[in-house]
Order: sequence, then structure tokens, then C-alpha cells
Amino acid sequence: MDLQVRVWDYSRRSDGNLSLVRHKMAVDTVPPAIRVMSRLHYINEGGTGLIVYQTSSDAVKSGVFVNDLFFKGFPVDKESKEGLHVAYFAIPVDIKPNPEVYVWARDRAGNLSRAGFYHRIRRKRFRTVKVNITDRFLKKILPFFSYYDFKPGESDIGKFLQINGDLRKKNGQTLYDLQKKTAPEKLWDGVWLRQKNAASMAGFGEHRVYYYKGKVVDKQTHLGQDLASLANSDVSAVNNGRVVFAGRLGIYGLTVVLDHGQGLTSVYSHLSKINVTLNQDVAKGAVVGVTGQTGLAGGDHLHLSVMVGGVFVNPIEWWDSHWIRDNITRKLAIIKK
Ligand SMILES: [Zn+2]
Repeated sequence: MDLQVRVWDYSRRSDGNLSLVRHKMAVDTVPPAIRVMSRLHYINEGGTGLIVYQTSSDAVKSGVFVNDLFFKGFPVDKESKEGLHVAYFAIPVDIKPNPEVYVWARDRAGNLSRAGFYHRIRRKRFRTVKVNITDRFLKKILPFFSYYDFKPGESDIGKFLQINGDLRKKNGQTLYDLQKKTAPEKLWDGVWLRQKNAASMAGFGEHRVYYYKGKVVDKQTHLGQDLASLANSDVSAVNNGRVVFAGRLGIYGLTVVLDHGQGLTSVYSHLSKINVTLNQDVAKGAVVGVTGQTGLAGGDHLHLSVMVGGVFVNPIEWWDSHWIRDNITRKLAIIKK
């Protein structure tokens, strides 16, 4: 194919200056090939899925789409020319039934491919919990947010609603953006650790309806697991990883985020003390901080979140050795064959 580019400049002379450039070009119009290698994908609402797939060598970007959410795929081996990839993806809580879920790839020339794969989403029922906001609670938590740019003359409950709404959204975006720092390789190994001797205070996916003076003032979904034991307990890394955030994060208070590679992260919130620094490598079980009640917390506890590609998922799956074997390890074993 010949490509002609004609360029006129804005010369005042009658017909301008014409340059003619001729190029011989090979135009790639063949979309990249996708072959799904893993077979059965049963994903819980609010849970994690893993797919193993192969792309042709010209694919430069690939991953899984769940409606408009993109979950990046990672080559399993840099040297491997076979184009094998893994992609962890999330089915967000409260997603509408029958979302579009497919593998997607793009090549250098911009050609796009998509391939469906066998998957089944199990609907989950999450608890609805009434949360009563008292003036005493507001007096306790508002000092943590004295830096916040509240609307002038805002009441205490008005301030709470800004924190619980706008600031929560902003903090969620900060956590979402951390996926850009993820390592391309798997850093974690084996079942994830759960905080020792801790009772579950509130679960992932819990729908919270907030009341103030008997009226509903707000609704939010709790996107982590609350674990409580003794005040100021050591908080251990759930698995091997690298610190991608360590500091104050709005409603989450003092927070540590560990990257476990390929888009997986764990988030430790409401800490009273942080024991790690940014970019530090952390081994499974190492103490990353101490529990507390910083940020939007009623009492001393650990709020633990797990994220996949920046989307909150149910941590319980990652504490379940059977779930890991059936949904992760068995799929990863395909690669070694
Ligand atoms: Zn929590």
C-alpha cells in the first residue's frame, strides 16, 4: 500500500508550497489472537477471578473487562515468547446481573480482539446494618479531619456526611491509583494470613444505613473486614509484598498498603503506628503496624481490605486454602504444563 502525505504551508503565494512524501507501508489489519487456557471460572459477587490465556506475539496490551472495568493481564514469564498471561479480575459488590466479562487484547497497529470465556457469577447476599451516629461519636472523630476543607458553617453531622461521602470517594481513588505501582510478577505465596486471635466485627459487603436522630442520613457499603482483638495489637502482613503506601489516608486513618504483584494489594487501616516505609519488601507475617482507631473508626480494630486491579474484593476468599487451590493454584498450574 502507498501512503501519500501532502503538506501545504501557509505561504501567501498563490498556490502555497507543496511537499510530497511517498511511503511504502505494511498495514497490519489482523487482530491479535486470544486463546483462553483456563476452563471453569466460578466467581462470587464481590470476589476474585483468575484467567490464564495466550495472545499472539503482536499483542501489546491485554486483560479482562468486567463491564467498563479493565483488569490488566501480566505475562507469566518475560522470556517466554508464548504469550501466556494471567489476569486477576473482580466482580464488584452490587454489580447488576449478567455483566459483560471477556478477555481483550490490542496489538501495535491498534487492532482489537475480544474473546468470551466460560464463567459463572454466584450472587451473594450481604447483610444490611443500621449504624447510629451519635453526637458523642462525631465529637470523637471530627478532630481527625480538622484539616478538611468543610463548607463554611457546616454542622457536625454535615461534616460527617462530607467525610463519609466525598472524602471516602477521594480516598478510594487514591487506593485505586496504587495499582499503577504493582509488580508484574507474583510476589505472594500460599494461603493468606488472618489477624491472630481477632474476632470479625464487620464483614465485607455489609450495607450500612446511617441514622442520625432517628432519620436515615447516608448509605455506604463496607468494603473490608473489621478484625478486633486487644487494643494496640500487632498487624501482620497477609502475604509477601512490597509497601506501596504508608501514611495518613482520610477515613482510613494511618494506613499501609502492600502490593502482592499482578494487581493484588492488601490494605491495613485505622492503625495507631506504622512500622514500615515506602518501597520496603515485607515477608508474610512481618509486623507492618499496630492497630488503633485513627480516621473514621468507632474503636480499636484493624480494617483489612484486599484489592484486585484497584477494586475491593472479599478478603475471606484469600484466607481459604480450598478456595485458593480451586480458583488460583490449579489455574496457575496450567502454565507449568
Ligand atoms: Zn471497616
